[in-house]
Amino acid sequence: MHELSICQGLLRQVEKVAAENNAKTVELIRLRVGALSGVEPPLLERAFEIARAGTLAAEAELEIEEGPVVVKCQECGASSAVPVNNLVCQYCGEWRVNVTEGEELLLLSLEIET
Ligand SMILES: [Zn+2]
Repeated sequence: MHELSICQGLLRQVEKVAAENNAKTVELIRLRVGALSGVEPPLLERAFEIARAGTLAAEAELEIEEGPVVVKCQECGASSAVPVNNLVCQYCGEWRVNVTEGEELLLLSLEIET
């Protein structure tokens, strides 16, 4: 499962931050998942429940914020937030755009117990 390896990578990052802050446990993990990241939040949550066992985050909650998709137009240079199924410039309708947001999987913040 794709999501499981993502979770394992994420938990390594979480444990590193937790250790740097002398945390005993991690209570909450906030993530931002871009709509084009290819990650399904429900699958990520399920994978997280498996992956967190035996880590500092074994009891942690996972909060997933779904990020917007933002494109930058190659024609007029404007940035606009767009629906996933319609990646065109919202100002001039140009389809040659670069995705500047939406592909990311970001660790936003942690709540820890020290
Ligand atoms: Zn445009």
